[in-house]
Amino acid sequence: MTNALYRNDRPATYPASYYAQGVNFGPERAALHGEQRADVCVIGAGYTGLWAAKTLAENGLRVIVLEAHRTGFGASGRNGGQVRSGFNKSPRWIAQRLGKDNARAMWDFAQEGKAMVRDFCLSHAPKAQFKSGVADVAYTAPDVRALHDEADFLRLEYGYDLIEKHSNDSFQAIVKSPLYHGGIVDMGAGHLHPLHYALALVDAAESAGAIIHERSEVHDVESGQPALVRTGQGRVLADSVIIAGNGYLPHLFPKVASRVLPINSFMIATAPLGARATDVLARDIAVADNKHVVNYFRLSDDGRLLFGGRANASIGFPRDIAGLLRGRMEHMFPQLRGVRVDHAWGGALGITTTRLPCLLRLAPNMVAAGGFSGHGVALSGLAGRVMAEAVAGQTARFDTLSTLPTPRFPGGPMMRTPMLAAALTWFGLRDKLGL
Ligand SMILES: Cc1cc2nc3c(=O)[nH]c(=O)nc-3n(C[C@H](O)[C@H](O)[C@H](O)COP(=O)(O)OP(=O)(O)OC[C@H]3O[C@@H](n4cnc5c(N)ncnc54)[C@H](O)[C@@H]3O)c2cc1C
Repeated sequence: MTNALYRNDRPATYPASYYAQGVNFGPERAALHGEQRADVCVIGAGYTGLWAAKTLAENGLRVIVLEAHRTGFGASGRNGGQVRSGFNKSPRWIAQRLGKDNARAMWDFAQEGKAMVRDFCLSHAPKAQFKSGVADVAYTAPDVRALHDEADFLRLEYGYDLIEKHSNDSFQAIVKSPLYHGGIVDMGAGHLHPLHYALALVDAAESAGAIIHERSEVHDVESGQPALVRTGQGRVLADSVIIAGNGYLPHLFPKVASRVLPINSFMIATAPLGARATDVLARDIAVADNKHVVNYFRLSDDGRLLFGGRANASIGFPRDIAGLLRGRMEHMFPQLRGVRVDHAWGGALGITTTRLPCLLRLAPNMVAAGGFSGHGVALSGLAGRVMAEAVAGQTARFDTLSTLPTPRFPGGPMMRTPMLAAALTWFGLRDKLGL
């Protein structure tokens, strides 16, 4: 089985994304050598691991973070930057499945996740440039009604009144694609520069005392008291272990691998559009559509269209990411035909069968979280915080969140990727046919 950490990336080399250009990453942190002792060892330095490390270090625990590549190297440093409300499942579905009270508790968790990101960015990460506003768009009148219905549900059930409902005409004035029929704009959601957010979290975790080792891939974890975490050249004896590798986690923990499956998503950045930018998006908001294979976009600070789409569950990236996405972008925005594409990149994220996050206890002193399914910018920090609470002995919130249903993918670890690839092809076809 190919190691997810290296199948599309070079060791410790950030992808050539729009976000990474011009960023001063500083020298690499030392890899782990020899034996170290920690209260908590965190595997993975994305949002999940960094929030866990920051929370624990702020509470005086000795935390060691082991990162196979570099901090913020994974999905956290290269995503669409959308800080979305709720979960990747309608609130009505969650209420029907979990019951009214549990669904309300889950909504409150998701609200906390968003607030953590927004508050942290406003106080500690000015370069992340958090801005409010995420639109969901639909291609048909019934789908627009469904979005409006959802906004009503949130207002009536949870008192959430930050969603604007737009008809076809008012929406066309904001998102200028002839394909859309209307949608909603959620002003309680937002968007940001994902890599700057991740790097500010690194600073905060280190300032609080967390020790981060880069180029330190974890090959093996032996449970016990303490647990033994091994890399190529070192080992950490830790009272607790937090696993935060999400879509990049190699096949180390069968219970996680059977529930969290990596898929690839891709992005492009056009050349700066100048005055043409408002011919695409008249407000500085992020946008996602309701396709099964979702398209998402927003404008960058320098007026480029950052356009993304989820494209495959196969092992490798396609050879021509730019070509793949340009076609989709031009179909949606014919006014951009021929515009230059300056950057193209991809990354892996974890999804689950229900598209709800997966929080698992693997041993009394070992917890894992992943599978945020396109909602990870908001939900991963919350998962990190709640895992930190759990290993520090406050388990209630972890236990509640881990009741989100995330059954195993059918087919077991060997068959799950081919089966998902087939499913994505099928959903892509349905999107094309408008089914
Ligand atoms: C192109 C793209 C666009 C996206 N757009 C959005 C969006 O707009 N909104 C949204 O909410 N979500 C989006 N996502 C998903 C979101 O980015 C993720 O859910 C989120 O970043 C997950 O954070 P994480 O810390 O759990 O994982 P990651 O950021 O992937 O971090 C995991 C880290 O663990 C390390 N690691 C793994 N295994 C090991 C090991 N054995 N030893 C040591 N280190 C290890 C990896 O190197 C990596 O750095 C997108 C993802 C992609 C790829």
